[in-house]
Order: sequence, then structure tokens, then C-alpha cells
Amino acid sequence: MTRVLLTGGSGFVAAHVLGLLLKGGHSVVTTVRSQSKADSIKRVFSSYGKDQLDFAIVEDIAKPDAFKDAVVSTPPFEAVIHTASPFHFNTQDIQKDLIDPAVMGTTEILRAIKNGAPSVKKVVITSSFAAVRDISKGDCPEYTYSEADFNPMTLEEALSHPAKGYTGSKAFAEKAAWNFVEKEKPNFSLVTIEPSLIFGPIVPGLHSLASLNTSNQLTQGITMGIAKERIPDFGGYFWVDVRNVAQAHIAAMELSAADGKRFILNAGLFNNKQIVEVIRKHFPEYHSVLPSESVEGGNYPAGGIFSIDNSRSVEVLGIKYKDLEEAVVDTVKSFKLA
Ligand code: NDP
Repeated sequence: MTRVLLTGGSGFVAAHVLGLLLKGGHSVVTTVRSQSKADSIKRVFSSYGKDQLDFAIVEDIAKPDAFKDAVVSTPPFEAVIHTASPFHFNTQDIQKDLIDPAVMGTTEILRAIKNGAPSVKKVVITSSFAAVRDISKGDCPEYTYSEADFNPMTLEEALSHPAKGYTGSKAFAEKAAWNFVEKEKPNFSLVTIEPSLIFGPIVPGLHSLASLNTSNQLTQGITMGIAKERIPDFGGYFWVDVRNVAQAHIAAMELSAADGKRFILNAGLFNNKQIVEVIRKHFPEYHSVLPSESVEGGNYPAGGIFSIDNSRSVEVLGIKYKDLEEAVVDTVKSFKLA
């Protein structure tokens, strides 16, 4: 049993991490922005007592000393999993809304652990494949990304558009984390997790369709008819199931072989046409809002697309990737329960 601090417990990814931690017998304090979010989580995980699931309110991870109190616990924490970071494109102020919480949230928690929680031996940070990919390379079909790659985006470019702001926020935050470890030589090992676009079930009772997490909005949109006239060509193209992402965080926390490493998580390629076809096959009730089979769009880029090497996640973390059909079916089923 490990005593764990999990940040951002109300989030899409964090809810799955929390579920697995509790199932695995670990004792968790999770940070949330408000008491009402703590109450919702408590209702969903009502079979666990205060000794196994407790809460710390951290309203804004971008504030100085945001985590000063949250890292102090009895019994003391042994591991920290930091998932909290903004993932949306709804901003007029990229620096304040995306970059500051990502970067300061990361440096604040590392500093708080170093100064106030010497018992912590492992910190796992949810980074992103966005921190790996160099978008200036374009689709580069001849290229294979691996953990050796780091998104070289400048601050100026990140500030030019919200989507780039998010991408930059993840790269800057992860670089800040590795720099912290190199410079400060803390008592803990760091692991960063770099998922591609995450699909998978939301947790009913915790997440609602009205404020759905960003990466499930495409599937939601298809069930609402956005692809009826033309399937969008939007190119995430690489995806991973949220349940594999949660497993990877736990394995990274538990395995010393993961220490000091980055892990790309990627189940494979997808295009929007495939998502439409999975919904068509399994959910006849959506047929009236789906495009007919002759409707165009939603394909891979004509010239091909890069590859991603996910072998480290398989070899070290033991991830067995779920397939797209299962992920999309379970995602849509979860929408019906939300
Ligand atoms: P969610 O939006 O569901 O979760 C984000 C979490 O961060 C929420 O708990 C949110 O709290 C919290 N948060 C954001 N900003 C602040 C802030 N300023 N102060 C305090 N808490 C804050 O997104 P995901 O679960 O999808 O993302 C979780 C992590 O996974 C992020 O680090 C994201 O970058 C990363 N990631 C996600 C991918 C995806 O496709 N979903 C892909 C790759 C990486 P609240 O809800 O109360 O605002």
C-alpha cells in the first residue's frame, strides 16, 4: 500500500487513476478546486473510507505555494501523481489560462514536495505527446517519434493560438520538471507520461455531457450530428484508451524500472471515419445523425503521417493496448449514463 497525493482528482484522466489506485489498495488524497467537487468524487467512490480517500482543496495550481499544505499528510506521502493541468482551447489569455497553470502547477508541486514532503520517493507527471511532437515537421510520414524527441516550440509561437498554447504549455511544463530534478537533485525520482489523444469512458456522476473533457468532444460531436454532411478531417490521428493511461500511471509509480524516464502512450492510428463506423455498427439509435456511407471526409492525410514508437510503454510498464472499437463503444455507453 502506498500513500499517494493525486492532483486534479475531478479530471477525466484522474478519475480513472483514482479508481485504480483505490482498487489496488492504495491510500489517496486528491486535490480538487472546491468542496462540491470533493463531494461528487466521494459519492462515486462511496465504498472507501476517509483513511483510503481524502481531499485537499487547491483552488488554483498557478498560485505561489499552491501545494504547500496539500503535500503534508499523516501518514506521509510516498508518491505524487500530478495530472492537473488545463486542457481546453477556450481562452483569450493563453499565458494566464494555459501556460501559467501548466508550468507553475508543475514547479510549485515539485518545490512543495522537496521542501515539505521528504518522504515522497516517486513523482509521476501527466505530460503529453504534445510535449514530444515537433509540429513544424508537419505530417512527416518518414519519421518515427520516440521518447528522445522534445517539442521545441517557442513561447512566442505558443502565444499565437490556443491550440499551440496548449501544446506549448505541456512542453514547457515537462521541461521545467526535468530541469527541476537536474538542478535541485530532490529525494524523489521523476517519471513523465506522454499520452496521445485520450478516448474512453467518462465517469458518470463525476463528468457531464455539458462540460465534457476536450478529448471526448469529437466522439460526442459525432453522436450529435456534426459529421452528417461532411466528416471533419481534424487530425488527432493517434489515440490511447484512458484505462491504459491510468494503468501506466500506476505502473510508473510502482516500478523502479520507470524512474527517470518518459513514456509515450499510443494505441495506434485512428481517423474520424473509423469513429463514425464504430458508432454506426454498435448504436443504431444514432443512425439518423450519422453521415450516410457516401459522405466524404474523415480520412488520413493523403501523403501519410508519422509513426510513434510505443515500445517502452509495453516493455517497461507492461501496457496491453485496448483497441479503438472497444474504446469508442465504452465512451458512447458512458455518455448515455452521464
Ligand atoms: P480534464 O480537463 O478532465 O482535467 C484537468 C484537471 O486539471 C481538472 O481536474 C481541472 O480541474 C484541473 N485544473 C486545470 N486547471 C487548473 C487550475 N488552474 N487549478 C487547479 N486545477 C486545475 O482533462 P484531462 O483529464 O483530459 O487531462 C488531464 C491531464 O492529462 C492534463 O495534464 C492533460 O494535459 C493530460 N493529457 C490529456 C490528454 C487527453 O487527450 N485528454 C492527452 C495527453 C495529455 P477543474 O475540472 O476543476 O477545472
